[in-house]
Amino acid sequence: ESGLYVVATPIGNLGDISQRALAVLAAADLIAAEDTRHSARLLQHFSIDTPMQAYHDHSDQRALSKVLDCLAAGGVVALVSDAGTPLISDPGYRLVRQVQDLGHAVYPVPGACAAIAALSASGLPTDRFLFEGFLPAKAGARASRLQALAAESATLVFYEAPHRVAETLEAMITCLGGEREALLARELTKTFETLHRAPLVELSRFVAADSNQQRGEIVLAVAGRRGREEVVAPEVAQLLRRLAQELP
Ligand code: SAM
Repeated sequence: ESGLYVVATPIGNLGDISQRALAVLAAADLIAAEDTRHSARLLQHFSIDTPMQAYHDHSDQRALSKVLDCLAAGGVVALVSDAGTPLISDPGYRLVRQVQDLGHAVYPVPGACAAIAALSASGLPTDRFLFEGFLPAKAGARASRLQALAAESATLVFYEAPHRVAETLEAMITCLGGEREALLARELTKTFETLHRAPLVELSRFVAADSNQQRGEIVLAVAGRRGREEVVAPEVAQLLRRLAQELP
């Protein structure tokens, strides 16, 4: 069936690729890949020799035309990113919109996603969750985002770069309070897979004490607000406590 197939690939363990993903990748006329050199290794492993085209959301018109021409000719295009599910903190949104607007079909081929994998083994509530992707890298913008999330009762899920995980945990303690339970999920499906759940203060100590915990690929999840906590900014909360002490 002609159309754009959004194909999830493994987040580490190659055994996580689905039979359908392999079939689609092998049968496609073109694979649009975030990074062709990266995806070449995956395709080689499974002896797939479908032609590839580099595609990301800032690609030029030429790259886009190649994909659209293939679809216009009744072909099958598979979209892959470096790891996991395309469009989830990965390129593809612009392409999916454009392809749909031109009247072509878009089919999901589901599979691995680091956020969902972490959540499923987190031990945190999963009935409601909010995927936040990457927090802003700058301290001010990151604190604003966390403060905006402080009242949220759903479990919060973040992607984080290893060199920022220690300071992000510190910022979370400041903005969300240190008692909230949180999860560090590192190197999921890989050799050094680690899942560690603890209150934010303890998790922060665990990470600070062992530089190995600041390596590799990381998902952070934090329990949502339980109701008792202060929703006001930390400085305001401190001020209120001081005022309360002064009152007769
Ligand atoms: N599209 C991908 C997905 O479906 O999970 C996510 C792409 S995003 C650019 C990459 C981030 O995902 C990493 O920085 C890390 O936060 C998270 N991630 C990817 N693979 C992971 C793994 N094996 N273990 C833990 N986190 C992972």
